[in-house]
Amino acid sequence: MSIDIRNVSKTFGTFKALDDVSLRVDSGELVALLGPSGSGKTTLLRIIAGLERADPGSGEMFFHDEDVARRHVSARGVGFVFQHYALFRHMSVFENVAFGLRVKRRHRPDRAFIRRKVLELLRLVQLEGMAGRYPHQLSGGQRQRVALARALAVEPKVLLLDEPFGALDAKVRKELRTWLRRLHDELHVTSVFVTHDQDEALEVANRIVVMNRGRIEQVGTPDDVFHHPATEFVMHFLGDVNTFHGRVNGGTVQFSELNLPFPENRRQIVGDARVFVRPYDVTIDTKMGGLPALEAKVARVHSAGPLVRVELVTSTNQRLVSEISQERFATMNLAPDSTVYVRPRHIRVFAGG
Ligand code: ADP
Ligand code: MG
Repeated sequence: MSIDIRNVSKTFGTFKALDDVSLRVDSGELVALLGPSGSGKTTLLRIIAGLERADPGSGEMFFHDEDVARRHVSARGVGFVFQHYALFRHMSVFENVAFGLRVKRRHRPDRAFIRRKVLELLRLVQLEGMAGRYPHQLSGGQRQRVALARALAVEPKVLLLDEPFGALDAKVRKELRTWLRRLHDELHVTSVFVTHDQDEALEVANRIVVMNRGRIEQVGTPDDVFHHPATEFVMHFLGDVNTFHGRVNGGTVQFSELNLPFPENRRQIVGDARVFVRPYDVTIDTKMGGLPALEAKVARVHSAGPLVRVELVTSTNQRLVSEISQERFATMNLAPDSTVYVRPRHIRVFAGG
């Protein structure tokens, strides 16, 4: 089931939570809505679900080319999982998962069918053997998997997940996101997944919708949004970045005493510009060498991690960060106050001062 949202706005009082949002989710896709808190992710999800109405006269929404804007939540065929699992506390895991099937008004399945279906779902979410437990006897991660099984029980055409792992600790979150990816590969239910965690979005989604202040900044594959950010906001939101003020003159960009060839991303820029470099694109050397480089001093070194993070200060007091491999670090003998020569390997340039 595809979802097609066209020009949807949502105002609360005078505050525009969504501002002319258009988005198409293809059948079987898993799309992540990624953005900071307050950017409108939940509002968009609730409008898709039918729990919230778009502003009168704004926008249209189609499920598989059928206009559903006026259709009630219960008739949209959506399943939900929220951050704060709303499992029924007085019901066993089995009864929680069976709930949606038992309350069906039309085509209510018989007991044998329900039993088969629930056990199959519990196997799918890897909770076989837990059918008789109650929510308080489960870990947070297990409860969220029950919530997912419950959402899937009624075979929704669209699955909506609002920060489903947001309340769990980092390690469990990581496990569950890998697990959700595999589950989706198996089921192919059209899914919209809300998160403010870039790593989660990059790992789980087929496509990422980056949101900011009620607008969509960029839609693209994880690779697109990470390696080819369309805006400064996306550049900042997806990973650490060093920022410089610069100037574009003809084929070169000048910043912090460096003159580099102008990169491909924004040919039309002239004059003031902002220059961005990811820390892993900043190489450092202890010798000057032939190529243009910035001289800088080491301020701090953090070596506890897969990469070594070196904080630097240039002679003009510009701070920047370089990330280098442990192997390279081992050959360099760096300490606070060491002088190094810095070269951005890959820069991105956006207009503006
Ligand atoms: P997100 O899920 O990205 O954190 P939300 O969609 O929940 O963002 O909220 C977007 C903005 O709309 C926030 O500033 C929030 O305070 C506001 N908002 C959301 N729901 C309501 C509401 N029912 N009444 C008033 N303001 C709301
Ligand atoms: Mg939210």
